[in-house]
Amino acid sequence: MKREIKETIASIGKRLYERRLNGGYGGNISIKDEGVIYITPSGMPKDILSYSDIIVVDFKGNLLEGEGKPSSELLFHVAIYKERSDVNAIVHTHPPISTGFAIANIPLREAIHEEVSLILGEVPVLPYEMTSSKELAKSVANAFKKYNAVMLANHGVITVGETPEKAFRRAEELENICISTLVANTFGGVKEIPPDKLKALFSMFYKKK
Ligand code: 13P
Ligand code: ZN
Repeated sequence: MKREIKETIASIGKRLYERRLNGGYGGNISIKDEGVIYITPSGMPKDILSYSDIIVVDFKGNLLEGEGKPSSELLFHVAIYKERSDVNAIVHTHPPISTGFAIANIPLREAIHEEVSLILGEVPVLPYEMTSSKELAKSVANAFKKYNAVMLANHGVITVGETPEKAFRRAEELENICISTLVANTFGGVKEIPPDKLKALFSMFYKKK
């Protein structure tokens, strides 16, 4: 198995911890490569992750390499990869502010900020399902048919990307925008980008790409 992929996961784990997107034992990270899944071990704080801690499993969850147990959320990681062939990395976090939005059941609307419109898209809050459950995996896989970031009620956030960097940046961006939204709400509320300007923004951005 590839050491550089394991190192990428360990480095993202540290960056998530440094930016306070994960604390304690929370969150998990995976990368899909050549038909197998590299994933963080269960119950390990992300600031002390080393490449040698990363577990490799197949799509049925069979252990291929590594010691210890894979993340208890392996079910939803597998379910997302099965649903989205374009997704190669998944980052699950418990960021304090976005998780506050999830607890209060406040989704993020697309029109509140350019970064949300272009990088994240709308971010829904999925109804509460118990951690590690089949119901959670089913609900998450269904949501990722449409979204690139979701909030989980009373739990946290999941972001995906074609690359680990994109999945990481989406988690970072979501937390930043939730902070901005919180600030806007203390100053009298969110004012959205007008629909015609939002349309123009999309056409300019996607033409350039
Ligand atoms: P694991 O340590 O088993 O990955 O669980 C952490 C978590 O965030 C559960 O939702
Ligand atoms: Zn979690």
